[in-house]
Amino acid sequence: METVSDYFGSKVFDDRVMKAMLSADVYQSLRKTIDEGAKLDISVANAVATAMKDWAVAQGATHYTHWFQPLTGKTAEKHDSFITPASDGRVIMEFSGKELIKGEPDASSFPSGGIRATFEARGYTAWDPTSYAFIKAKTLCIPTAFCSYGGEALDKKTPLLRSMEALNKQALRVLKLFGNDDVKAVRTSVGPEQEYFLVDGEMFNARPDLMYTGRTLFGAMPPKGQEMDDHYFGAIKPRVAAFMEELNDELWKLGILAKTQHNEVAPAQHELAPIYTTTNIATDHNQLTMEIMQKVAQKHGLACLLHEKPFAGVNGSGKHNNWSISTDTGTNLLSPGSTPYENAQFLLFLVAVIKAVDDYQDLLRIAVATASNDHRLGANEAPPAIISIFLGDELTAILDAIETGKPYAGSEKQVMKLGVSVLPRFAKDTTDRNRTSPFAFTGNKFEFRSLGSSNSISCTNIMLNAAVADTLRVFADELEAAPDFEAALNEMIKRTIKEHKRILFNGNGYDDSWVKEAEKRGLCNYKTTPDCMPHILDKKNADMLIGENIFTEVELKSRCEIMLENYCKTVFIEARTMSDMSRKMILPAVEKYTATVAKTAVEKKAVVPEANCYYEKEVVGKLGKLSDEIYEATKALEAETAKAKSIDDIIEQSYAIRDYVLPAMAALREAADEAEVNTSEEYWPFPTYAKLLFGVK
Ligand code: ADP
Ligand code: MG
Repeated sequence: METVSDYFGSKVFDDRVMKAMLSADVYQSLRKTIDEGAKLDISVANAVATAMKDWAVAQGATHYTHWFQPLTGKTAEKHDSFITPASDGRVIMEFSGKELIKGEPDASSFPSGGIRATFEARGYTAWDPTSYAFIKAKTLCIPTAFCSYGGEALDKKTPLLRSMEALNKQALRVLKLFGNDDVKAVRTSVGPEQEYFLVDGEMFNARPDLMYTGRTLFGAMPPKGQEMDDHYFGAIKPRVAAFMEELNDELWKLGILAKTQHNEVAPAQHELAPIYTTTNIATDHNQLTMEIMQKVAQKHGLACLLHEKPFAGVNGSGKHNNWSISTDTGTNLLSPGSTPYENAQFLLFLVAVIKAVDDYQDLLRIAVATASNDHRLGANEAPPAIISIFLGDELTAILDAIETGKPYAGSEKQVMKLGVSVLPRFAKDTTDRNRTSPFAFTGNKFEFRSLGSSNSISCTNIMLNAAVADTLRVFADELEAAPDFEAALNEMIKRTIKEHKRILFNGNGYDDSWVKEAEKRGLCNYKTTPDCMPHILDKKNADMLIGENIFTEVELKSRCEIMLENYCKTVFIEARTMSDMSRKMILPAVEKYTATVAKTAVEKKAVVPEANCYYEKEVVGKLGKLSDEIYEATKALEAETAKAKSIDDIIEQSYAIRDYVLPAMAALREAADEAEVNTSEEYWPFPTYAKLLFGVK
């Protein structure tokens, strides 16, 4: 029988395939490009393209595509076949180096935030050799970056690669100061834990809200939700197990290190975590994982919901971005070492992250801001919208001791002198008890927990890498110029702790008192996307992002605009879906049921004239009132939507949505959900929460 190790990566043009299919010279050149970013010669590109094509065709592929990540947050592909006419009327399969390196999709319909006028439709895709090509269905997919004719990035990969490069450069400078001359590259790694819901496919198709918006816009709570916590880590049901089995197989064939799977807190909610890998690849893999989850679900008659809040009243889905920095020599820079010297280096990187997160807390909040994620953050199921860092008691005590110069109790009461004392190792379980923190140190990595389940992880990692790179630059500038490195280092660590400890918080992030405390500390608390998004253009943020070459000014402005546009469009679609469902499904159903009950009363009276018909009177009265309320709320929502739509300025429009459209949606929902509770289930026009949440066996 074929085992996983036989077929793992079988659909990937990875190092093993390259070695086998390329000449030694070509292989060496390509490796140099992958590892060190060396320029690729066209003759090498031709040889690689031919090998890729031969390998793909042998696996049944007929097409190739430049696979890219536009600002929609999804992936995009346009397929071209390999066929070229031959003189005898037949075809041969061809693929050139030029086609491998560069593509020119007609890109006029991708969001560009005004960078590219629609008449100037040309966009370029450029091969990213650091992420392996792979086969999906019958198409060879080549991971690419996507930019405009003028060279502005129109995608999420380009700034991510830039941020990794920025961090690499600054971290190398710092490492050199510690005498690490053998280190050639520093990379960040990510392991994203992905949450999702599985519901029955037919029920999904019966609900326009799920189909159009990915979440339920109506739905009363069933008698049972998640209060028993009996779903978390519970036994996996057969239909779900079959889905997971096929999902893993598909992911493994694509070289994706799917590792952990379990049931999550909410009924019908599950999680998949891969083994971590280089950020760029982890991002590509996470996009693929989300896509394949949905495809495999469909094959199993299920629907996979990646929305952050598919159901009101039960937990929504997030994505935890486990992040660390390591060298090409295998050292994790966020892992305290076993010698004092390594500790000092660890502490410097640690305080760099602390300073970066404090200085750019708004950018981290912005990175996870979407209409859908606004439902989770701060709702006591996910971290609050306030960004803070959890270090755990042990590390906090060490930093305290360093800052104050007082003895550290955990290590035989010795005074923590950097470069002298050995830090204790932090066991994962002593640092990871607080699940309410947005940004937690978990032994040798940080876990950023504010991401929404459908977010591309690129945004988060762009901001994180850029902020840390910028901090390391400031550190390196100062340390390189210092006459006494050790003295300067000690002073720098102490000072950084003092200046940035306000961002450290080990307490309960769900507690109301934290909101007040955070405000006292001057931390940002941006509750919604419109609240935070415009701050991406604040001088401090723009200076850093442009200074680190992550974005140009034009790119930054366009991104702000696109993200706000996404927010507005998302809510407009939801509002429209609600009013449609209300008018075409809910009101007619309520009317029909009311008529039936009323008719029953009349008939009852005909048979038994003295019958009181309390039940009928009450139901007809209540539903009569509710249908008026629903109708009024629907009209109010439509009016607010029209008003918001007429606003030209995107920021003002997003405010109108936050302040008027979303509350109007909530009011309509409240009336409709109450009608649902008072209407016979037989008459209700779409599957209820009970069926959706408990329907998959
Ligand atoms: P938990 O649910 O306790 O957070 P999981 O085991 O579900 O833990 O997920 C941990 C994730 O962190 C995995 O994806 C794992 O690969 C990743 N991870 C572990 N070590 C590192 C590291 N050094 N850098 C980045 N990610 C890491
Ligand atoms: Mg986790």
